[in-house]
Amino acid sequence: MNAHANPKQRGAADAPFYLPGADEIEVFQAAAANDLPVLLKGPTGCGKTRFVAHMAARLGRPLYTVACHDDLSAADLIGRYLLKGGETVWTDGPLTRAVREGAICYLDEVVEARKDVTVVLHPLTDDRRILPIDRTGEELEAAPGFMLVASYNPGYQNILKTLKPSTRQRFLALEFDFPEPAREIEIVTRESGLDRDRVTALVRLAGKIRGLKGQDLEEGVSTRLVVYAAALIQQGMGVDRAIEAAMIEPLSDDAETKRGLRDLSAAIF
Ligand code: ADP
Repeated sequence: MNAHANPKQRGAADAPFYLPGADEIEVFQAAAANDLPVLLKGPTGCGKTRFVAHMAARLGRPLYTVACHDDLSAADLIGRYLLKGGETVWTDGPLTRAVREGAICYLDEVVEARKDVTVVLHPLTDDRRILPIDRTGEELEAAPGFMLVASYNPGYQNILKTLKPSTRQRFLALEFDFPEPAREIEIVTRESGLDRDRVTALVRLAGKIRGLKGQDLEEGVSTRLVVYAAALIQQGMGVDRAIEAAMIEPLSDDAETKRGLRDLSAAIF
C-alpha cells in the first residue's frame, strides 16, 4: 500500500512552496468550498502533487495521498479485515479514513488503478457523498471537509488507460503543464538554491528538450528533473555529469537519442 497520510493540521503560513501558473488556487478553493471533486490533468513532474499538498495546508485539511498502480484495488482504498493476534480486525484504508475525518484524498495517476476503483468513486463524487463499505455493511457519509482529488496524465497515448466520460464528468478539471521559462526559473531556483544564471541555462535546455517531444521523446523533461539537475550542481557536481544523470539518462535508453540530447546541452553550456 502506497498511502501516505499527513493528518497534521497546518496553515497557509507553512504550506509547502507552490508557485501558481494561473488561477488554479482560486478554482481549487471554490471547489473545496462547494464540496466538488477535482481532476488534475498534466504530464508527470509538473507540480500537481505539490499543488495538492499546498492546498491541503492552506485549507487546513489533512491529506491522504495514494500513488495508484495497476494492482491497486478498491479494497486497498477502502480497507480490509486483517489478522491481528488471532483475531480479524477491520482496518480502514486511506479513502475511508479521509471520508471519516473530512480530509482530502488525492489519488495520484488514478487511471493506473484497477477498474473496481472507479465504481467506489461514483457515489462519493455526486451529492450523496457516501462510501458504501460492502464488507462491513456500513454506508459512510463523508464528513464535512472531505474532498476527492485525482490526477492523470493524458499524454500517455494509451486508449485502455483513459478515464471513462462517466467518471471524468464527475470532476472539475484543471490542466497543468510545464511552467513557462520565467516561472520555471523561479521554481527551480527556490527548490535547489542554485544561482539564477545556471538555473536559466538549465531551463533553456529543458525547453529545447521539450521541443523534441513526439519525435524522439515520448515526453519532455519534467520540472522535477530540472530541479534534480540543479540540486546536483548546487551540491558541487560538474554540470555535464548532473545533466547526464538528471536530464538525459532518465529520458531515453536509445544511444542516438541520448547523443542528440548531449548535443543540445553542449550548445547551451
Ligand atoms: P507531479 O505530481 O505533477 O508529478 P510534483 O508536484 O511532484 O509533480 O512536482 C515535482 C517537483 O517539481 C516538485 O517537487 C517541485 O520541486 C517542483 N515543482 C513543479 N511545479 C512547481 C510549482 N508550481 N511550485 C513549486 N514547485 C514546483
